[in-house]
Amino acid sequence: MRAELIAVGTELLLGQIVDTHSAYLSQELSRLGIDVYYHSTVGDNRGRLQEVIRLAKSRSDIVIFTGGLGPTEDDLTKEALAEVLGVSLIEHAPSLEHIRGFFKARGLTMPEANRKQAMVFPGGVVFPNPNGTAPGVAVTHDQVTYVLLPGPPVELIPMFEDHVRSFLHGLLPHDEVVVSRVLRFYGIGESHLEEKVGHILRQQSNPTIAPLAKEGEVTLRLTAKAASEAEAQALIQPVRQALLEVVGKYCYSDNDEPLERICIRRLTEQQRTVALAESCSGGLLAETLTSIPGSSQAVKGGIVSYSNEAKERLLQVPASVLERFGAVSMEAALHMAEGARAALNTDFALSITGVAGPEPAEEKPVGLVYVGLAEKGQPSRAYRLQLSGSRRKIQIRSVKHAMFILQE
Ligand code: ATP
Ligand code: MG
Repeated sequence: MRAELIAVGTELLLGQIVDTHSAYLSQELSRLGIDVYYHSTVGDNRGRLQEVIRLAKSRSDIVIFTGGLGPTEDDLTKEALAEVLGVSLIEHAPSLEHIRGFFKARGLTMPEANRKQAMVFPGGVVFPNPNGTAPGVAVTHDQVTYVLLPGPPVELIPMFEDHVRSFLHGLLPHDEVVVSRVLRFYGIGESHLEEKVGHILRQQSNPTIAPLAKEGEVTLRLTAKAASEAEAQALIQPVRQALLEVVGKYCYSDNDEPLERICIRRLTEQQRTVALAESCSGGLLAETLTSIPGSSQAVKGGIVSYSNEAKERLLQVPASVLERFGAVSMEAALHMAEGARAALNTDFALSITGVAGPEPAEEKPVGLVYVGLAEKGQPSRAYRLQLSGSRRKIQIRSVKHAMFILQE
């Protein structure tokens, strides 16, 4: 199944809005095992829209449009498609009723212009829109299925969730199961990973392997198609094994579990607790860990010790350490972690201190970060990182590194 997406709207071309629908729909389609081969963006212009439709018709099995289902003159997605297909739209009574009711509920009468929103394709499918006026519509013509969805996200997303996903699922060959498995890596860049496992990536067509780099992490999504779930798993297994043999030491999850969830799950299972001491990350580590439901079992608390004064008074970092080595130092990171662990009497404590930028500090370069780990009954450890990117990126990567060493 080859799909393509057509985002309709002049605002998109002018850069006034960002096309988030194509990202959303592409992710959803890939989960369904439908390959998306093209994204197009076209303005509210009948001629150009029809050019794009003719091209899509010649190369895709599924074409999904977003936008241009409104009541105004420049909303013309349905009309443009009907003309290309040579079909006449027909009025759909339940939709017209819904649109009238939508206005009535607001004390208004339906403007005549909205009537066209109730026009649908003969022999097609109608997706109700409880959050707006225009229903979504779909029609299959010459073995190509066209799906037209309204532009506003508050309308499109629930419609997709409630109706369109299962509609698309119904188009798939019934004897085919799609299974995905996501391996997550930390501590290795995307290009390095590809260098090491490129030969495996290139050989594969079932499962396909899709790499994705995001916020200092790389993921590989293995997607297999087979007649049964067990068969699909059996296709994935040897490829997964081959990948892990080469880059297993960087892999922290083989079922798409994020670092924060792994940390909380492990601590909870072992009935252990953690405290946090954060300087340049400003509380982001605490926020990230506590975003996981049930984290209260594991996270006792954290201290945002942004100033030297806070490091001394709240974490008992000796003034002499701060004077001699500076707040951005291996020694400060160790003392911060130990101070936090002692203050909250936990099994573990993590600390982060560094230069998030954009200006250097203590004559140390932007991106220099120390991450400390204190553990009950064990010698404390600290790691020196030289990170790059914006202030936010440096903060995010520091937090990831701290979580990575905690779960290791
Ligand atoms: P309306 O009835 O509101 O006119 P419509 O189906 O005609 O809906 P558009 O007019 O194309 O849709 O877009 C309406 C709004 O939906 C846009 O102003 C924008 O906020 C949002 N929108 C449209 N397309 C996209 C897109 N591709 N990604 C994100 N948002 C979008
Ligand atoms: Mg519109």
